[in-house]
Amino acid sequence: MKTARGPGNLELREIEEPRPGKDEVLIEVAAAGICGTDVHIKHDQTFYTPPIVLGHEYSGRVVEVGDDVTGIEVGDLVVSPATAYCGKCYQCKTGHMNRCTSEKKRILGTSLANGAFARYLTVPEYIIHKIPKGVALKEAAMAEPTACVVHSVIEKSPITPGDVVVVQGPGTMGLLAVQVAKAMGAGKVIVTGVSADQWRFDIAKKIGVDLTLNVQLDPDPVKTIKEETDGRGADVVIEASGACIACNQALDFVKVAGHVTLLGIRGQPLDIDLDAIALKELTMSGTWGTLPSTWVTTLRLMASKKVKVAPLITHRISLDLWEEGFDLMEKQKAIKVLFTKFD
Ligand SMILES: [Zn+2]
Ligand SMILES: [Zn+2]
Repeated sequence: MKTARGPGNLELREIEEPRPGKDEVLIEVAAAGICGTDVHIKHDQTFYTPPIVLGHEYSGRVVEVGDDVTGIEVGDLVVSPATAYCGKCYQCKTGHMNRCTSEKKRILGTSLANGAFARYLTVPEYIIHKIPKGVALKEAAMAEPTACVVHSVIEKSPITPGDVVVVQGPGTMGLLAVQVAKAMGAGKVIVTGVSADQWRFDIAKKIGVDLTLNVQLDPDPVKTIKEETDGRGADVVIEASGACIACNQALDFVKVAGHVTLLGIRGQPLDIDLDAIALKELTMSGTWGTLPSTWVTTLRLMASKKVKVAPLITHRISLDLWEEGFDLMEKQKAIKVLFTKFD
């Protein structure tokens, strides 16, 4: 629980068991992943409303339903996005529920709603999705980050079958993007990283990446990408590293009239020459969160194993070892840390 504003102020606390409201369900958490956002909240680097239980990437079993709940039953295995949108504001009415502007909007583990780093949490029925057959309950905790990638890559990037796609950064989002691009029919997917990413490259190979490129070791990474693309450059570059140098490199890697997708946020202003966008007639897209439809696609991809999340779960620990879990994330020794025991 983030108990108060400021750096730190994170502790394991006994709290009262939550009760579901009329339109809510009570979920017993099976697994909950630590996200970069949780680390940012720990260090007071992003928006949140303390005191609040962190955690928005989770899966669980429904143990109680409110009086008005009609589509979910006790025993159902479920996941959900983090944001409970209002459905009434301009953004919601125009299909951008992920950008709901209502002051009543609640974000699990971030604002006005306790998250999943606990034995139980309550979630409104209308944002819940049932976990399909073929997706293991604990692996389903990866549905939230996967959905963020699906929204960005499938719903907002023009990848067509046969494309060469470069993914920058072999972290959770990058390694999910590799698989999503493949599922869309990309002919060749290249993942770039630095020397410290060597062990991540090994995981990338296991999940089907065609080529790994260490941009620190390669004397001319742009030339290498050109050589891999008959001199043209990549059709689509997905920037998932957050590094300034990578954003500039993205504009060099991409072909004329190609597309650059920004996955997640950079967290700081960048020194970047936007003229490349004009001179190469590029398009760029950024996204934030997910839409309800994104989750349908995401869970199908996970059930059909087009996207395999198991190789990305490098650590499973119990909640009482939360400090170790955050440490693994902050020192970049993990891809995904899941809390899987809450006793
Ligand atoms: Zn997250
Ligand atoms: Zn809204």
